[in-house]
Amino acid sequence: MERFDLVIIGSGPGGYVCAIRAAQLGLKTALVEQFSALGGTCLNVGCIPSKALLHVAAVMDEAAHFAGLGVEYGAPKVDIDKLRAHKNKVVGKLTGGLGSMAKMRKVTVVRGYGSFVGPNHLEVELTSGDAQDKTGQKQVIRFASAIIAAGSAAVRLPFVPDDPRVVDSTGALTLPAVPKKMLVIGGGIIGLEMATVYAALGVRVSVVELTPGLMPGCDRDLVRPLEKRIAEHRLARKSSSLGWLFARAPKVEPIKGLYIFGDVGRGKSMLMDLFFEGAPALRKRRAHFHEFMADVHERVFVFRQKIKAGDIVDEDPMKLTAAALAEEAWLLCFDEFHVTDIADAMILGRLFKSLFERDVVVVATSNAAPDRLYWDGLNRQLFEPFIALLKEKLDVVGLVSAKDYRLDKLAGRQLYFSPADETARAELDAHWQRLAGHHPTGRAEVECNGRIIAVPKAAPGIARFSFFDLCGQPLGAADYLAIARAYPTLIIDHIPVLTPDRRNEARRLITLIDTLYDRGTCLIVSADAEPDALYPKGDGADLFERTASRLMEMRSEAYLTCSTGQRQSD
Ligand SMILES: Cc1cc2nc3c(=O)[nH]c(=O)nc-3n(C[C@H](O)[C@H](O)[C@H](O)COP(=O)(O)OP(=O)(O)OC[C@H]3O[C@@H](n4cnc5c(N)ncnc54)[C@H](O)[C@@H]3O)c2cc1C
Repeated sequence: MERFDLVIIGSGPGGYVCAIRAAQLGLKTALVEQFSALGGTCLNVGCIPSKALLHVAAVMDEAAHFAGLGVEYGAPKVDIDKLRAHKNKVVGKLTGGLGSMAKMRKVTVVRGYGSFVGPNHLEVELTSGDAQDKTGQKQVIRFASAIIAAGSAAVRLPFVPDDPRVVDSTGALTLPAVPKKMLVIGGGIIGLEMATVYAALGVRVSVVELTPGLMPGCDRDLVRPLEKRIAEHRLARKSSSLGWLFARAPKVEPIKGLYIFGDVGRGKSMLMDLFFEGAPALRKRRAHFHEFMADVHERVFVFRQKIKAGDIVDEDPMKLTAAALAEEAWLLCFDEFHVTDIADAMILGRLFKSLFERDVVVVATSNAAPDRLYWDGLNRQLFEPFIALLKEKLDVVGLVSAKDYRLDKLAGRQLYFSPADETARAELDAHWQRLAGHHPTGRAEVECNGRIIAVPKAAPGIARFSFFDLCGQPLGAADYLAIARAYPTLIIDHIPVLTPDRRNEARRLITLIDTLYDRGTCLIVSADAEPDALYPKGDGADLFERTASRLMEMRSEAYLTCSTGQRQSD
């Protein structure tokens, strides 16, 4: 049994480069390859044969292009056997050269299919012929180290039948025949290479691509010239060898997005979740609208800095941001789309215009119809073109339902727990579970007049705060209103009994409850005492009587039912 310092499985670019270098460094090296020719996918059935054929296609294409410049060569005649032989010659030269190089460097090439049979042993089932035909003979190689450079194989699509007409890129590159028509599944680089070669041979090629653009994953700014060229070829199809590429494809309408609006608890978020989970797009993003906008502002800032530093020349930071976002996800889903911030309002139009130009599809849920977005906002007239754009690019659907599904989960349940002990905490936890359901939960932020209010725990439509978070901090009516707007249901943990020296907290609690009451917020609390005993003495204790009475009312079924009506009128 021969012993090697290094055995490498696979002789593609990964394997052969490694083998030659290892031998140069003085290691006794074996290179195991199941096929007769070295070079792996790249040299045999990938980069090299495809480029050999593409070169021919490019020359034919250029010749056709010259007709428009007044120089005509006539229609090309393709001898498929000669073309195949040319491609095989190019491949043969390179793989042959590789074989000689391996010999010169004293790399031992073992022809066969390798599999490990121990930590230091590789069994090779020897193969012969052009394919991987096993001879029945085996050879065991002992090695100190091994490298696996076995490459990858084409995916088999489960819905594609076993049919000799169906080939992968390896099959296509053998040029078995030139059919009249061909369908290429996948508009990525390899799919388009095959399409280009066959279109040059006069085949009518159609390409299907799942995502909105060709070559998903590639920089859209680089793909755009290609798409433009293809469109031009389509117009000039009679004179061009690429003429039939995409020629018969019907005009693809951009996918329209969807904007669902309706009252709280109508199931918008659930529909969005179902849609997002089921959408087959690979590049998709589901984001809370505020998080998304925070991300946008940050990216714009970074691009601005780069432009300032001269790293990027003559570019619009908004377009660069849109390009980067579109590259990461072509399907954007926003739960709770609402605009309150002037900085957001002023950039939305430009941002979304750029996103739509890049075929990004937007799906959003909101409590407000598009026309009610940024309703009382400063300089609203500058925001209006964005509303028009939304209505043009998205189907707008009002989710009308008499039923507030969220209220079903609260009806008949206790909403005020006293004392604020472990039992109360567990009850509040149970309410949270019921209302947040399977939605992702975590920290969030609410913005109010340029300030950020931290939300310790949030899920769509519901947030949970401690008493201290809300009343132990310098917050005011505007902040409470922003919170109530963002979260129709609030859970507040542990309202203490307030002594006269805690008059500031008492005052904030009065403002908080007034705001929540006016908004019709569903409120679930734990407290050290019943409402009327929470602030019995101190500055403003008389005002607190109204707060106590409102707290009593807010835990009633009647409040819950009519609060829904209040929120609907938003
Ligand atoms: C049509 C096409 C066009 C392409 N064009 C380009 C291009 O223009 N530019 C570019 O950069 N890339 C291109 N690629 C990709 C490129 O070919 C691959 O990235 C590259 O070949 C990967 O090299 P590798 O060494 O990892 O694997 P491979 O080249 O796949 O080599 C792996 C080798 O391992 C052998 N092997 C596997 N298992 C065993 C085993 N158990 N025993 C023995 N042998 C085994 C295989 O037979 C194969 O020869 C193209 C690919 C295709 C299909």
